[in-house]
Amino acid sequence: MADCETRVFTGWGRSSYARAMACLPETVDEVPVAFEHTSQTGSVIAYAGGRSYGDIALNSGGGALLVRQLNRILSFDPETGELVCEPGVTFHEILHTFLPQGYCAPVSPGTGFVTIGGAIANDVHGKNHEVAGSFGRHVQWIELLLPTGEQRRISRQQHAGLFSATIGGAGLTGIILVVCFRMSRRATNAVQVREMRMAGLEDFFSAFEQARADGISYSVGWIDAMARGSRLGRGILELAEPATESLDEPAPKRLRVPADLPGFVLNPLSIAAFNKLYYHRIPNGGRERLVLLERFLYPLDALLEWNRVYGRRGFYQFQCVLPDEAGISGIRQLLEQIVRSRAASFLAVLKTLGGEGEGYLSFPQRGYTLALDFPHKKGVVELLRSLEAITRDYGGRIYLAKDACMSPESFAAMYPGLEQFRAVRQSIDPDALMNSDLARRLHI
Ligand SMILES: Cc1cc2nc3c(=O)[nH]c(=O)nc-3n(C[C@H](O)[C@H](O)[C@H](O)COP(=O)(O)OP(=O)(O)OC[C@H]3O[C@@H](n4cnc5c(N)ncnc54)[C@H](O)[C@@H]3O)c2cc1C
Repeated sequence: MADCETRVFTGWGRSSYARAMACLPETVDEVPVAFEHTSQTGSVIAYAGGRSYGDIALNSGGGALLVRQLNRILSFDPETGELVCEPGVTFHEILHTFLPQGYCAPVSPGTGFVTIGGAIANDVHGKNHEVAGSFGRHVQWIELLLPTGEQRRISRQQHAGLFSATIGGAGLTGIILVVCFRMSRRATNAVQVREMRMAGLEDFFSAFEQARADGISYSVGWIDAMARGSRLGRGILELAEPATESLDEPAPKRLRVPADLPGFVLNPLSIAAFNKLYYHRIPNGGRERLVLLERFLYPLDALLEWNRVYGRRGFYQFQCVLPDEAGISGIRQLLEQIVRSRAASFLAVLKTLGGEGEGYLSFPQRGYTLALDFPHKKGVVELLRSLEAITRDYGGRIYLAKDACMSPESFAAMYPGLEQFRAVRQSIDPDALMNSDLARRLHI
């Protein structure tokens, strides 16, 4: 194991920072010793792919257990689709290893650099949430190192409460050492994508409801968060189904943002112009085409370190879900507030979620989720607070993977499973050795 050293960590938004004592075990066998070293600081959290935007993987003044080298695939059963692997395996690695064998991950977040451990700790959702649910649904069992040093296999049958606390549990129940989950069969490397212009929010809502009724596999909307008036909520809807033929095309090429961009490059004028171009890229009558699954699932991965476009001060991401009952008026109120502030950056994402996750702190609920970035500038925290209030009033939730600002009161109001989570945590870790900046901020 490499030596432990003090390092500065940041979330993907680069607006939250933490100095922590980091240890990098190279094998699962080295984890207990690394845990012991880092726990001498008084608290520990796992840090994996670093793709959470805020402070969920940060632990100021404590220990950071770096789990990305725990990246071995241990077994795969092509009959059942069951994959057993270490938690540092990424979605890119899974796609490149298993798509040629006719399998893919059942649920994928919007970047392939996320690890399986990170996917469990945030119970991540993909563009297929309506049909597949979130990642936790597909997990069979987890080998967990508890804060006491004990190792337990947890599942729906064994230690069920601890299993529900670990799915979407923000890494606070222990270190995930090994995971077994079920993959999905996939005959080709492509999806058939239909892209349509949506003139406004009404169009989006009726098209999403139709997609739900039709059982469409993948759906995602890109919104121009600068458009106002009758164009409020205009954007592009993408619906996709697994293709019946493969594409003979190399894996997508990647460019890298070479440096932090100066703050003035991103201003309301340049962003509005970009959004307008993006909207008009799709012909009036829409279009249909075959797209590599990798390109469809991970469009942002074409630009490595894209978070540097926001400059040295970084950015915040806001993601909430509003229940179906909130209807179009909840999303409209959020968008109106955002448009008035002129603070939004590029395209916002709007999609539907199909229902609750299995974890006590899982984010999804049946409804509409909106996600977008805000450059870290004066007034943005106040804007985030007002979006938080709207979300709470409509009975919605803010996603912990993206959050850096929510208040403990809103968190408690939005997450009804919190008391069950606290009871499990109290039983396995009464001194809260597993801890993070997010857990302390939200009084978890
Ligand atoms: C471009 C982009 C697109 C995204 N799109 C989506 C999306 O579509 N849907 C979605 O749901 N999310 C999305 N996300 C968020 C991302 O999926 C989550 O934040 C995810 O948890 C990040 O995983 P990670 O491997 O980077 O882990 P980190 O961010 O390093 O850690 C996340 C959490 O996992 C815990 N953790 C990690 N490994 C372990 C382990 N071995 N044991 C215990 N705890 C562990 C950490 O302690 C922390 O609490 C996106 C993020 C980005 C940057």
